[in-house]
Amino acid sequence: MDWLMGKSKTKPNGKKAPAEEKKHYMEPEYTKVRVVDFDLKDLVSLPTKEIDLNEWLANNTTTFFNLINLQYSTISEFCTGDTCQAMTACNTIYYWYDERGKKMKCTAPQYVDLVMTFVQKLVTDEEIFPTKYGKDFPNSFESLVKKVCRYLFHVLAHIYWAHFKETVALELQGHLNTLYAHFIVFVREFNLVEPKETCIMDDLSEVLCAPLPHYIAYLKVHSVVW
Ligand SMILES: [Zn+2]
Repeated sequence: MDWLMGKSKTKPNGKKAPAEEKKHYMEPEYTKVRVVDFDLKDLVSLPTKEIDLNEWLANNTTTFFNLINLQYSTISEFCTGDTCQAMTACNTIYYWYDERGKKMKCTAPQYVDLVMTFVQKLVTDEEIFPTKYGKDFPNSFESLVKKVCRYLFHVLAHIYWAHFKETVALELQGHLNTLYAHFIVFVREFNLVEPKETCIMDDLSEVLCAPLPHYIAYLKVHSVVW
């Protein structure tokens, strides 16, 4: 994406930013950018009782994995071991734990790579995410989906915290906001990520996930031109 380099001169310096630093993604000119104008809750709730809940969770989780992977790939050239020496979001640093539960220190791109490799392996494992009719989901399915969603949340939070300026330079903030809002409404609907995990982004979730009448009221209060 060399053609974009000239547009994005600002790179994160890799140092941990203080939590009170201005959150660019909270500026009304950005939060008004949402690609869809209908209620996301209609999209995420289980369509009918005829559809198996696990099937629904599996399909949605796989879709979010693909979309978040794609969104990260748009800024991945700016997310390097130099610019992002740790996987940060707000004042949090995420650590990867290996298969033995040992805490590993890794850079943000390494962490994202570990997440994506882990999730890719799961969603393509026929024993865990079965695609064949009549094949049962394992007992561990729900806890694995929760793990996947927690990791995907870390990636989204890192994009906002460390790469929002680059996302704006690419004019992809509308996609990011829509993806984020859709994801948060989905994980809330099925209690897939602990609120204590997502609370670092509650201010943004509050604005982007608000049902439409409230959302429009918010924009009016903040004098955002519609
Ligand atoms: Zn980064």
